[in-house]
Formats: sequence, C-alpha cells, structure tokens
Amino acid sequence: MADRQLHDGHGRRISDLRVSVTDRCNFRCQYCMPAEGLDWLDREEILTFEEITRLVSIFAGMGIEDLRLTGGEPLVRKQFPDLLGMLAAVEGISDLSLTTNGYLLGRDAAALVSAGIQRVNVSIDSLQRDRFFQMTRRDALPRVLDGLEALAAHPEVDPIKVNAVAIRDFTEDEVGRFCEFARSTRYQVRFIEFMPLDGDRSWVPESVLAGEQLRKMVAAIHPIEELPREPSATARVFRFTDGRGEIGFINPVSEPFCSDCNRIRLTAEGKLRTCLFSMSETDLREPLRSGADDAEIDGIIREAVWRKELKHRVNEPGFQQPPRTMSAIGG
Ligand code: SAM
Ligand code: SF4
Repeated sequence: MADRQLHDGHGRRISDLRVSVTDRCNFRCQYCMPAEGLDWLDREEILTFEEITRLVSIFAGMGIEDLRLTGGEPLVRKQFPDLLGMLAAVEGISDLSLTTNGYLLGRDAAALVSAGIQRVNVSIDSLQRDRFFQMTRRDALPRVLDGLEALAAHPEVDPIKVNAVAIRDFTEDEVGRFCEFARSTRYQVRFIEFMPLDGDRSWVPESVLAGEQLRKMVAAIHPIEELPREPSATARVFRFTDGRGEIGFINPVSEPFCSDCNRIRLTAEGKLRTCLFSMSETDLREPLRSGADDAEIDGIIREAVWRKELKHRVNEPGFQQPPRTMSAIGG
C-alpha cells in the first residue's frame, strides 16, 4: 500500500475525503446560504450513488480511510441511507461519518445506524429557540434536539459532536448554555470560527469570535484542561477538570492548521477541491461519464492533489473569497 498512498507536493499524506451528496438544504443559515437559497444543481448534474461509490473505491485504493458525508444537507438526498450502506462496504474505509443539521434525524437515525454510520456531527448554533431561528432562518430547535436524542439512543454512534459556528456578538451569549450541554450529555460540543465562505458575503475579520476568547469564557465558568491533540485533528479539545464532558475549539482563522491538513473534498457534481478556499477545482465527473478507467481517474486525482494549496490566505491582504460558498463545497 505504501507507494499507492496519496500525497501532495508539500509532503502531506491525504487520508480524509469529504463528499458532498447534495447542494440543497432545508435550512438557510446566515453564515452559509442566502435567505432565498442558491441556484440548485439539476438532478443529472449530481453524481449518482454508483458514481460516488466508484470514486470512493478509487480514493480508498489510494489510502483514503476517513470518509465524511456532508452537503448541503445530506439527509435531504433521497434514499441517502442506501448510499451510506454502499459506502460502508467499500474496502479500506475505516471511518464513516456524517455532518448534518439534524432536522431529519428523527426520521433517519435508525436507518443511518443500520447502514453503518460510525460518527455524526450535528450543527447547532444556539440552544435558545428564537436565536436558533434567527441564525438558521428556521424555527427548528426542538425538532433538531429531538433528532439528536433519537441518534443518541444508538450507543454504537460514537462520538456525537455538536458544532456551533462562532460569530462575534452572537455566540458570546451561548457559551454558558453550551458548557452545561456538554457537561450534562454525551455530546462533545465544539465551536468553529466563522470563515469567509458565506453566501451573503457578509464575513469581515471583525465577525470572527476567536477560539481563544471562547476558551477563556469557558474556563471562567468551569476549569478545563487541554487534551493531547491527535495528528491532523482540526479541534483543540479540552475536558472539564471534574471529568464531566469535553469542549473543543476549531480555529481555522486565528490558528490555521494547514500544515498538517490531510483533507480533500468532492462536490455534489463531482469536482475535486483540495482546499476549502481553492480558486480552482478538478472535474472528475466528465472522465467518469466518458468511460475513463480507474487508472486514468487515479492519475487525474494524484495530479490534482499534488498541487494542493500550502495554506489558506484568509489573513493576508488581497484574500479573495472563493466563488463557491460552504453549502456548495461540502463543509
Ligand atoms: N447541512 C449540514 C450541516 O449544517 O451540518 C452539513 C453541511 S454544512 C456546510 C457543514 C458545516 O459547515 C456545518 O457545521 C456548518 O455550521 C459549517 N459552516 C457553514 N458555513 C460556515 C462558515 N461560513 N464558517 C464556518 N463554518 C461554516
Ligand atoms: Fe444548510 Fe448546513 Fe449551510 Fe446551514 S450550514 S444552510 S444547514 S448546508
């Protein structure tokens, strides 16, 4: 396997693939999508389950072990658990995970577990109903919390993480509630710094609530201590010193972790992206649909990954937000 592994030109081994299964979503989060939505892809533009599975098998042959399914909202894709089952059977994929807004978890939790999901991240930006509505433009907090409970009834899904995008002048008022949530449930809570990938293009550096500031706010409520960071982990994770729960901080803007980034992404219409902030991408759908064999696709992927960006340039003068927003990339 050693010489088959996927590397970029900066010496990083790539072992984590995030696949967006749809660009559509039933929420309209302020930091992600405009209120009116976006121009959705046509059905025939989107990779079929068979196409996704074939690509994932090729990636797995190159040493991709961790596969995360995302979107848009993955659970709005019809028969999504069937796709999960197909991907769970791909040899070499040892970690199969999902990122969801949780709205359809009440309906789908059992099917996802039967299909082989191992880890799930649920995005919840506020534990207060009116503020959740304000941020997602959907009055859905009770339903999302019910969905989370339905998932937590399955002990085989572990860990379950709850992710909150941290935005200045919004998230400060959530910290105490999220601490209590992390301490009283089995969910790991993590704050993610707001990145310039929003549909409204309203991001400014001042809107980022830095992870370090949040960490201090948490520590002022309950003592915490940092856990050793796993290689290529995006989060700095802390445990409450009395042993009741964990809380984490993902700080891509204030503390970029590009130097050991091991991730690449595949969009719903089959474009390979080597960085969240890539300004160019590589089409895999056209070769797939015009009869390229696995070796040819393997070659196209290796060449694209070799050119993976060294780092993002969010903090540099002249930074340009990529044309695609988070929901169209697959966060
Ligand atoms: N719809 C699913 C969800 O919300 O979990 C999956 C797709 S969503 C694009 C994936 C993750 O990206 C979510 O945790 C979301 O909060 C996060 N996200 C979206 N826009 C973001 C932004 N501008 N900055 C930071 N995180 C963002
Ligand atoms: Fe939809 Fe997720 Fe984007 Fe919110 S963050 S609009 S739930 S894709």
